[in-house]
Order: sequence, then C-alpha cells, then structure tokens
Amino acid sequence: MNLAPYAAREDRTRGRRHAEAPPQGRGEFQRDRDRIIHSAAFRRLEYKTQVFVSHEGDLFRNRLTHSLEVAQIARSLARSLQLNEDLSETIALAHDLGHTPFGHAGQDALDDCMKAHGGFEHNAQSLRVVDELEDKYAEFRGLNLSFETREGILKHCSQARAATLGDVGARFLKGLQPGLEAQLTNIADQIAYNNHDVDDGLRAGILSIEQLLDVPLFARFHGEVTARYSSLTPRQLRHETIRRMINALVIDLQTETARRLADAAPADIDAVREHGTPLVMFSPAMERDNRDLKRFLYEHLYKHHQVYRVMHKARRIVRELFEALFGDIRLLPPEFHAMADEAEAAGGVTSRARVVADYIAGMTDRYAQDEHARLYDLRQLR
Ligand code: MG
Repeated sequence: MNLAPYAAREDRTRGRRHAEAPPQGRGEFQRDRDRIIHSAAFRRLEYKTQVFVSHEGDLFRNRLTHSLEVAQIARSLARSLQLNEDLSETIALAHDLGHTPFGHAGQDALDDCMKAHGGFEHNAQSLRVVDELEDKYAEFRGLNLSFETREGILKHCSQARAATLGDVGARFLKGLQPGLEAQLTNIADQIAYNNHDVDDGLRAGILSIEQLLDVPLFARFHGEVTARYSSLTPRQLRHETIRRMINALVIDLQTETARRLADAAPADIDAVREHGTPLVMFSPAMERDNRDLKRFLYEHLYKHHQVYRVMHKARRIVRELFEALFGDIRLLPPEFHAMADEAEAAGGVTSRARVVADYIAGMTDRYAQDEHARLYDLRQLR
C-alpha cells in the first residue's frame, strides 16, 4: 500500500486496549477485519433489515450485503486517495454490528424503552459489541480491536455517552475529527444506502421512475441513459442509471477530498484529527444533489404507507419484548437471566435494563418476531 502521510498507519497505531503480540503474516487492521468477520454479530447481519423486512424478498438488501457494498466503495475511495484500504474495509464491515432488528424503527423503539436508563444508540452499540459483548477470547472481553477501527465505528455519539467511553469518546468532548478512513467510510455508507434504497424501492414497486425524475441526480443520469440506449428493459434502465449515480458520487467525493487535502496538507493523522472541519466532503453542488436524494427517500420510501405499516408492527414487537423481558428477567434465556441478575446486583435497575437491551439488539428480525410470538401468543404454550 502506497500511503499518503496523513493516512492511518499500522506502525503508528494507538494500539489495543489489551496489549497483544503483533500479528504474523497480516497487518493490525487486517487482524481487526478478520476478527469482525468471525464474530457472531457479523453473521447476524444477514437477517437484519436495512429498510425492507428481511423475508419480504430474497433480493433485497440486508445489513450484511449493505456492509459489503459499503466496504467496496470505501476501499476504492481509500485506494484512490492513498489512504489505508484495510482500515477502511474494516470500519465498513463493523459499522452496523450494533443495529437492532427492523432497522431504524427497532432502534427508535429500543431507545424509547431505554429512556430512563441512558437510552440506546445503535452506533454506540456497535462499539459495545466489539468492546464488550462478543465473548469468546480467553484473554479479553470483546474483540480487542485497534483504536483506529474503534474510532471509525463510533461515528456519532451524545456528549453524555462520550464521557463514559474513554479514548474513543474524547473527540466528541474536544470537538476533534476522526481519521480520514473513518470520515470516508461514513460517506461511503450514505452513498451505498441511498442508492440501494432507490434500487430496492423501485423493485418493490414502492417508488416509480416518474417520481424519481424530480430528483436532479437521478433525472440527469436517467436522461443520459435513455438518450444513449433506446430499448432497455426496466431492469437495465434502473441499473444503468444507478451505477452512474454511484460513480458520480464517488468521483466527486474523491476529487473534492483530494483538493481539500492538497489545500490543508495535514502532516499526519493527528493533524487531520485537529483540522477544524472534515476533509472528506462532496463538492457544494453534489452535496445539494445528495441532500435532495436523501430528502426524496425520506418522504417517499421511509414514510411510504407500505413501509410504515411494517415499521409500526416492528416498533410494537421491540417495545413488547422489552416490557416482558425487563418486567420479568426469568423470561430471558438462563445465560442472560444470570447476567441480568449480576448486573442488577452491581449497578441497579439501569444495569438490568442494559442487559435486556443488549439481548434484544442482538436479535435478528426473524428471531425477534418468533420470540414475540412465544411470549405473547397464548395459543402457543412454549
Ligand atoms: Mg450503514
């Protein structure tokens, strides 16, 4: 890897929480990636929803395929900017590990349930998964990842929570930026989900091409494709348009960021962290296009009646799971029951609530639905 001076470097990593011998035959960030891929939380991503409920159709994105798409975009960007590709990929694969079942509806419902107990943020939960909840190594809890990976996972976080998170929380209190690989992966995430939501929305018949022609970015490339090809199938037209949108966003981000980096010329990653603003950015024109696309999706996809009805049920499932399990921890599986007991003895009712939230957040969509039925369906006595 030919790294720019401001890229993250393994030989200057801020290290792991528990000291370990350096890896053999692979780098520090590759080791982080490998631990993530072998984690239970990573395997569960396959059955967690992005927008559509995971069994609605086999072709829709789930959090696993979403994370792979983010990794692809993040790696290309990192390579073209001479940043650390391994670190970007690692952050991308880990960024959604803390997501609840049923996407944002599940996260909001769990946050409501946890209001009196410190709330629930999926981003902080991703960090909690890799720092605490994965439990299979003999010498430490969690995956013991390097600081730079953990910094990238914690994209945003409230001040109150930041104060409890030590080294990775500090930047939110001091108003510092994360490294470039973290900045870049955060935007790669947005590029991936906005575009695949357009794709999934069209395929599900929830969005139409006519509606999307109101979105300048879509209209521009749809026009380009239809001018060039006269007899495309709907599938080809959709794909040819969306791939041009992704490409335009990536190229714009790369060009604008290269320009900003040349201007700011940060000496190293610490200068990036201390720079007053993020350095990975779209041009102002593309920033507007991107905002319009997001706004469109918010109005027409995430608030669409068909999506809304499913999300309404999803919120209820999460809320009722919490009510039952927090109300009586003997309903938890024995392992979690013991953890909840222990947590309550050490930290009171708030600690008990956290164990219940961890348990629910770890569920896949399907498991949450089945568990809800087992607890509430009186015709099933199991
Ligand atoms: Mg994501």
